Amino acid sequence: MKRDLAALTATRFDVLIVGAGAFGAAAAWDAALRGLKVAVIDQHDFGAGASAECFKMVHGGIRYLQHADVRRLRSSCAERSALLRIAPHLVNPLPIAIPTYGHGRQGKAFLTAGMWAYDLLTLDKNAGIQDPLRRIAATRRLSRNRTLELFPELEQRSLTGAAVFEDGQMYHTARLVLAFVQSAVSRGAVAANHTQALRFLWEGRRVCGVRARDSVGNEEFDIRAGLVLNAAGPWAEYLLEDPDHFGAHRRGHFSRDACFIVNRKPRSAYALAVPGWTKDSDAVVSRSARHLFAVPWRDCTLIGVWHRLFTERPDTARVEETELAAWIAEMNASYPALNLKREDVLYANCGLVPFGDSRSSNGDLSFGKETRYFDHRTQGIDGLVTVIGIRYTTARGDSGKALDLLLQQMPQAPGRPATDRTPLVGGEIRDFAELQAAARRAVHENIRSSTVNAWLRNYGTHYRALADLARLPEEACCLAQTDTAMAEVTHAVQEEMAVHLEDVVLRRTNLGSGSHPGQSAIAAAARRMQQLLSWSDGRRLAEIAATNQALEHHHAGERLTA
Ligand SMILES: Cc1cc2nc3c(=O)[nH]c(=O)nc-3n(C[C@H](O)[C@H](O)[C@H](O)COP(=O)(O)OP(=O)(O)OC[C@H]3O[C@@H](n4cnc5c(N)ncnc54)[C@H](O)[C@@H]3O)c2cc1C
Repeated sequence: MKRDLAALTATRFDVLIVGAGAFGAAAAWDAALRGLKVAVIDQHDFGAGASAECFKMVHGGIRYLQHADVRRLRSSCAERSALLRIAPHLVNPLPIAIPTYGHGRQGKAFLTAGMWAYDLLTLDKNAGIQDPLRRIAATRRLSRNRTLELFPELEQRSLTGAAVFEDGQMYHTARLVLAFVQSAVSRGAVAANHTQALRFLWEGRRVCGVRARDSVGNEEFDIRAGLVLNAAGPWAEYLLEDPDHFGAHRRGHFSRDACFIVNRKPRSAYALAVPGWTKDSDAVVSRSARHLFAVPWRDCTLIGVWHRLFTERPDTARVEETELAAWIAEMNASYPALNLKREDVLYANCGLVPFGDSRSSNGDLSFGKETRYFDHRTQGIDGLVTVIGIRYTTARGDSGKALDLLLQQMPQAPGRPATDRTPLVGGEIRDFAELQAAARRAVHENIRSSTVNAWLRNYGTHYRALADLARLPEEACCLAQTDTAMAEVTHAVQEEMAVHLEDVVLRRTNLGSGSHPGQSAIAAAARRMQQLLSWSDGRRLAEIAATNQALEHHHAGERLTA
C-alpha cells in the first residue's frame, strides 16, 4: 500500500469514503468488490478513532435476548460468523461465563432458558466456518465445582455454577480495520491516511467530492467523486455543520465509552461477566444491572465497559484519574477477588459512540441501538449519505447497507458483493492450527514462537512477508524486551502506509496497542523509521515525543517512564 496523493487528485471516483474506521474501511472493501472506482481517506490513521479503542468483543447478539429483539440478535450473530470466516487470524471465539446464584434472575433455570432460546435462534452460526478453532460452541453450563476451579474467589454463598456462551474477540482492532483497507486497495481502491476532508465540494445541491488537507505535506487539494459516503464516526456530524447547505444541524447524543487493560495474566480462556452498577432501562426481560466483563486478551485482562454522556468534541475524550479510581472500586465490589489497584492498569481506552437518547445521566441510560443512516436527499442534497455506527461488530453489514442507500443514486449500480464470505487480505486460512504448524517449520528457528504467533494473528497468511524480511539478522531481532521484530517496523513503513512512529507503535504492531512498550523499544523503532524515511534527528525526536504523548493519553494522564 503506497500513499499516492497524486492518484487522489487525478481521478474522478465513483465513491469517496471519508473516514477509515471499521465502517469506512469495510465500506471501501465492499465498494471495491462491487467493481467501483473507490477512494478512502482518514484524517489521522486507519482505525485510529473509536475502532482502535474498542473492547474487542464481536458480539453474537445474546444480549438482545433481554430486549426480546430477535432481529438484532440474528444480525449480530451473522456478523460474528462473517468476521470469523473472513478474518480468522484476527478474530477468535471467546467463552464467557456468567455465574449463577439462587433461583431468581441470576439463577440457573432463568439463564439456562435464555441460553436454549439463543442456541435455537442461532442454529446457523457456524455456516461456512470449517476451522474447528473458529467455530462457536453451543451454550453450556458449568458445575459449581468447575466454576470455582476457574474462578476460585467467586462469592460462594448460593453459587450454583455458571452459564457459558461464546462471543468473538478481536486480536488487534486497528489491524482488522487495516485488513479491510488493504483488501480494498488490492481491488484497486486508492487509500490515504493523514488526509482530512475539510468540507464538501458542491455542484449546485449535489456533493461532488471534498476539499482535503494532507497533514504530512501540509497541502490542500480537491478529491472529486460522483458519490460521497461520510463515515467519519463521531466526527461525521461536524462535516454537516454548514448551515448554507444543511440548515441548522443538531448533533446527536454520544456516549464516551471506556475500558481498561490490567496486568493480570489470564488463568483460563474464560471471560467472566459480573453485574456492575448501571442499569439498562430498555431491557424488557431483566432490568438488573448491566454486566461488567473481565476478559482474557493476549497476556493481560480487559475490564469494561463504562458509558457516560459526552457533549464535547471526540478528540477531547479521555479517561480521568478519578474515573479510573471509581471503576476500579466498582469492579472490585463486583468481583473482590481481582483486588485491582491503580498500578495494575496498563492502558485505558475510550472513544465516542452514539447514545439512543439521553433520558437521564446516572444509572438510567438509554443506550444506542442501531447504526444511524442519513440519506441527505431528505434535505434536498444529492450524492451524500452519512453513516454513524454503534458497534464495530456490525461495521461490515451496516456499511454495506449505507452503500446500498448511496448507490440508489447511481444508474445501474452493482449489487451487494459477498463480503461475508470473501476472505480479507491474510485471511485465506482453512485451519489456523495447520497454518501455525507450517509457519513454525518455515520460519527460521531464531525467531521466537511468541513472535511467530503474533505474526500469524496480525498478518495471517502474509506472515511470510515478515519471515522473508527476517532472514536479515537486523530485521529478525526484537525491539528491546518486546516480542515485536524489527521486520514488522520495516514492513509497516514499506507495505502498510505507516507514516508516523505512532502509526507503527499503536496501530501496525503489538508494541503499544495494549501497554507501553518501553522507551528503548520506541527509540529502536524510531531509528529504523529514520533510516527508511530519511528523517532528520529533530524529526525522529519529535516523533518519539508525539508517540509518548499518545501513549500517555491511554494511561489516564500518568507519566510513563518505562
Ligand atoms: C471503549 C469502547 C469500547 C467498545 N467496545 C466495543 C465492542 O466490544 N464491540 C463492538 O462491536 N463495538 C464496540 N465499541 C464501538 C465501536 O468501537 C464503534 O462503534 C466503531 O468502532 C465505530 O467505527 P467508525 O468507523 O464508525 O468510527 P471510528 O472508528 O471513530 O472511525 C471514524 C474515522 O473517521 C476519521 N475522520 C473523522 N473526521 C474525518 C475527516 N474530516 N476526514 C477524514 N477522516 C475523518 C477518524 O480519524 C476515524 O478514523 C466500543 C467503543 C468504545 C469507545
